Amino acid sequence: MRGIQVSDTTPRLEIRNLMRQFDGRMVVNDVSLTVMPGQVTCLLGPSGCGKSTTLRMIAGVDMQDSGEIYVDGSLVCDTVFRIPPERRSVGLMFQDFALFPHLSVAENVAFGLSGSKEEKRARVEELLSRVNLLRFIDEYPHNLSGGEQQRVALARALAPRPRIMLMDEPFSGLDNRLRDEIRDSTLEVLKSEGSAVLLVTHEPEEAMRMADEIALMRDGKIVQQGAPYNIYNSPVDLNAAQFFSDVN
Ligand code: ADP
Ligand code: MG
Repeated sequence: MRGIQVSDTTPRLEIRNLMRQFDGRMVVNDVSLTVMPGQVTCLLGPSGCGKSTTLRMIAGVDMQDSGEIYVDGSLVCDTVFRIPPERRSVGLMFQDFALFPHLSVAENVAFGLSGSKEEKRARVEELLSRVNLLRFIDEYPHNLSGGEQQRVALARALAPRPRIMLMDEPFSGLDNRLRDEIRDSTLEVLKSEGSAVLLVTHEPEEAMRMADEIALMRDGKIVQQGAPYNIYNSPVDLNAAQFFSDVN
């Protein structure tokens, strides 16, 4: 994909008509969405509606039955053509964000980087100062709090400058007290890196707090898509209204 001219109007990620069945049951049913540069798009919906399956197909660790996936306007996967996960320029962050325990913070962040030692070190320092953890550069993960480990994981995922970041419920393992603060600081880092993000969550509050655009998913389908406050103020049906009713 590198070398191709990509403009700001080219979506970082576009998926078209994605379908996936398991055992004859349609789990992802004709899902289409785009993520523009610098934007956080939230795939929001109740547990079991097909969010993680959608993300896994984008990451390339699962394969759709039909539909296409594009990164920077280039096809990465359809039913006959498939670029492997490690060449999709996709960053991943999951709830279980485990750092490598035997590697230092610096080594964790440098893990996916190529280039000279000096280049890698410069990128590691840049990112660790962005997440405000430069002082822990030579520490090991077990000496860090859960929230600090989360920030190292964010730095690690961003280090190779992925074209699109995929985040699957990355905050759900954190306790309530920390969560809002970490959501805000994560968003700040993502914005300062200019990342395009597809964030999966089942929590309307998280989507309202973080998203530029929400795609509301139910039973494998996107039922409504738009700016957070439009969706909150004009839910498509009673079910959507109830889903949002706890947010204040
Ligand atoms: P979400 O992330 O929205 O909670 P998932 O995408 O994980 O939902 O799952 C959607 C549905 O697909 C669930 O009913 C789940 O049990 C089913 N499912 C997911 N992966 C598989 C699989 N590998 N085999 C069979 N069923 C699966
Ligand atoms: Mg899931």
